[in-house]
Amino acid sequence: MPKNSFVTCPHCGGETVPKEKVLLDGWTRRGTVLVCAFCGGELPSAESPEATAPAADRKTSALAALLGSEVPEAVKLTASAEERRFCRDCRYYIKHPFLSRCERRQAEVNPMDDCPDFALPDPPAPDATPNH
Ligand SMILES: [Zn+2]
Repeated sequence: MPKNSFVTCPHCGGETVPKEKVLLDGWTRRGTVLVCAFCGGELPSAESPEATAPAADRKTSALAALLGSEVPEAVKLTASAEERRFCRDCRYYIKHPFLSRCERRQAEVNPMDDCPDFALPDPPAPDATPNH
């Protein structure tokens, strides 16, 4: 039975194409039902779309679990101090409320720019008073 065939909705009586709707129980996916595209009423279905859904869910969560275990490691590898050459981390970067400037180039810059003139700021002196 083709999924996109027109059916007569028992709720509004219109000729409608069934839409798949995911049933949720809290955060748990319970399955899918076919609903009317016009009134949203649940349609009686001879086929069972939920028969194929759990398999797809398992595949997706397995992939997510695999990616989830690898993502933190990748982030850790790229976040070394040598790799960070963004203007926002530069000693010449001046942050203003509406624009950011480079003191060295005397020009407007983007905080995430990768600058050839990048210079790490001096470590703050132990007796420096924060000037907020
Ligand atoms: Zn309807």
